[in-house]
Formats: sequence, C-alpha cells, structure tokens
Amino acid sequence: MFDRASVVTPGGVNSPVRAFRAVGGTPRFMVSGTGPYLTDADGREYVDLVCSWGPMILGHSHPEVIAAVQEAVSRGTSFGTPGEGEVALAEEIVARIEPVEQVRLVSSGTEATMSAIRLARGFTGRAKVVKFAGCYHGHVDALLAAAGSGVATFGLPDTPGVTGATAGDTVVLPYNDLDAVRAAFAAHPGEIACVITEASPGNMGVVPPADGFNAGLKELCAANGALYISDEVMTGFRTSKAGWYGVDGVQPDLMTFGKVMGGGFPAAAFGGRRDVMAHLAPAGPVYQAGTLSGNPVATAAGLAQLRLLDDAAYARIDAVSAELRSLVGGALTKEGVAHTVSAASNMFSVFFTDEPVRDYDDAKKQDVFRFTAFFHAMLEQGVYLPPSAFESWFVSTAHDERAVERIAAALPGAARAAAEATA
Ligand code: PLP
Repeated sequence: MFDRASVVTPGGVNSPVRAFRAVGGTPRFMVSGTGPYLTDADGREYVDLVCSWGPMILGHSHPEVIAAVQEAVSRGTSFGTPGEGEVALAEEIVARIEPVEQVRLVSSGTEATMSAIRLARGFTGRAKVVKFAGCYHGHVDALLAAAGSGVATFGLPDTPGVTGATAGDTVVLPYNDLDAVRAAFAAHPGEIACVITEASPGNMGVVPPADGFNAGLKELCAANGALYISDEVMTGFRTSKAGWYGVDGVQPDLMTFGKVMGGGFPAAAFGGRRDVMAHLAPAGPVYQAGTLSGNPVATAAGLAQLRLLDDAAYARIDAVSAELRSLVGGALTKEGVAHTVSAASNMFSVFFTDEPVRDYDDAKKQDVFRFTAFFHAMLEQGVYLPPSAFESWFVSTAHDERAVERIAAALPGAARAAAEATA
C-alpha cells in the first residue's frame, strides 16, 4: 500500500507526521479501529496511543458517536444552508467555555488559527503576530516560522513557499519567556495585533506553560492593545471539560478548537469575545467562509462526543494517563535511561533527557535516537506511539485494563532498546 501511495501521493502520506521519516521504516496502513485498538492492513492489532492525534478521546468506533453519524448521514450529508446541528454544537462550546461568547465553525484547526489571526488583525488594525518557537498552529503561512509538530520532526528551519512578506510580520519568541514578550512589545509599539500560543504546548513534545506564563501573556496583551489568542486545537475538550481554560482559568480574547470537537470528522472552530467576533462577516467586515463549515455529519459526531465527555470520562482519562506515565517512567528508570516524563493534565510525552524542558531548544537537546529505538520496539510489540519524539501521546476513555497491560508488557523491552541505542 505504501508503494502504491508513494506513486500517487508525495511521500506516500497526506500529512507529514504520518510518515515514519523521523523514525525510519514504513508507515502502518490502518483499516479499522475499535476502542483503544487499531488494526493494520496485515491484520496486526495495536494499542493506539495516538488516537488520531487527539480527536478519538472516546476510543475508536464509539457506538453512540457512530449512531449519531449514521442518523445524520441518513438525512443527507451537506446542505450549504444553516442547520440545527451546528447551532447545537456552538451552544455546547459556548456553554463549556466561559470566554467564548460567540463561535464560528470551520473544518480544520489550520483554518481556525488562520481565521483567528485575520480577525485579530482586522479588529486591531495592526499587522504583527507574536508566536512561540515550537508551537504549531497548523500550516498557516504566517505561523509556520519555527513551528513544532512535523516542522520540528523534520527539522525544517522554514518552509519554501512562504514569502518574506508573509513571514515578515511574524515575531517568533522563545516559549515560557515573558521578558522576551515584554521586549517584543517595546520594540514594536502599536504594531502587534495578537499573541498566539498553544494553551499548553503539545507539538514540541508536551511542555506546559510555567506558572503565571499564560496570565502574563494576557496582561501584556491587555496593556498593549493586542489580543491574546489561546490555541486549544489540541487541549480543547481534552485536558478538562473546558480544555486548558478549565485548568488555568486565564481568559483569552480569542480561542481556537479542533480535534476532539469533531468526533473524528473535520470540524473545528474559533471564538471568543462578542465584540471581537462581531467584526466577522456577515456581521462585520472581516471575511471568512467555508463550503463545508458546520457540516451536519461532522457536527453530529462532535456533539455526540462532547455530550459523552462528562466529569467521569475526564477522571477516567486522567487516571489512565497517570498510570501509563508511571509505567513508562518506571521502565526507563529501571534500564538507566535518562528521561523526563512531561505531562499537562492527561497529555504527556517522554523526553529522552533528564534536563528540564521549558522550551523548544531544551526539547531538541534530547537523545532522539533513543526515542527511535523505543518507538520501534513498542511497535513490534503492538503499541502504536506517535512516530516522532516531538509529539504528545494521547489516551482515551476506552484504554482499559487490558490495553494498559499490553502496554506494560511491551515497556521493559522498549526501555532496554532505548538503553542500548547508539547515536
Ligand atoms: N493548532 C494546534 C495546537 C495543533 O496541534 C494543530 C494540529 O495538530 C493545529 C492547530 C492544526 O490543526 P489541523 O491539523 O486540524 O489543521
């Protein structure tokens, strides 16, 4: 399948992070998923710790989500008109996340961040955007500078195709460094439209904000007439019922969402202050649109998934995450492998270094070759990890005792492989 794909698709994949370039080998082609398991085209079953890069928080093929999708499909797949499902999904988001007074649905996280910065520029009449090295906000031209995720995985300093003019209004700063943000506002008075940050970064591996960092960003933005945009595409509806906002309570002006809110379908959103959102077409002058925005099947899936995510579901995910972190840490310690298990609520990743990781430069200092050996040993034993040392691992409510036992059984061999790996 990979050979066939490589003929008709660049690199054989439709999103670079799916390729195994960072770890070597051939990507697995999956044919089905049930609960915490994926089955590949050769009939091999894996415990899935990627969960489609976050969306599948109830596991694969959750019966109630599938039923909602089937019911929606039976009524038609796209109307190009308003519909009740999109109103219900917007109401659910607004009800869960206090700073979101209004929301606009889109089809991908990239669209959400792209539209949010356009709106911030339109609202403030300013051009510059501040972002942080190692934070990934989708493949928006202006936000690809020093981005995490696939850009980190492949060590691309920049991407050809993004013009100097587009990237020229992007100011890239080290993460967790409020002094750098202060200095940027001082260097560009009256020019910065917004600061965009991952609410808690998961695209350089998991690097949570230091105490007071997000609150400091909010304060600096407010003091300088800029908008504070919290990108919750990854953390939204995952790290708590109200995402990372539910963890740190810092009120953004705008927020972006994706992944979990689509229930495995292409649905995403951006929203926030009513006075800012009022600038969006057709209410206001800032244009933004989408043929499939608020698609009835995607919104039915997202709504079904969100309605199942109650306190008990988050307690379950948090508990599984804590158990896995302790198992992984224990196995690596036993083999004497330098590592740091880094967590933000139930998102976590392993850095193969025992130095503290506070930003992208720190993350890059890890022994990536040890991750590679660890990854392949886990894969061989039927555990599917993200094929990169710079990505979060994701668990779901479906990761039960049997799935955890299978991971636990794979860990000693993988830890040994990491210990024996050479650069
Ligand atoms: N923002 C964050 C924090 C993300 O993690 C991602 C994707 O991983 C995006 C934006 C882009 O979302 P999408 O891949 O749906 O375009």
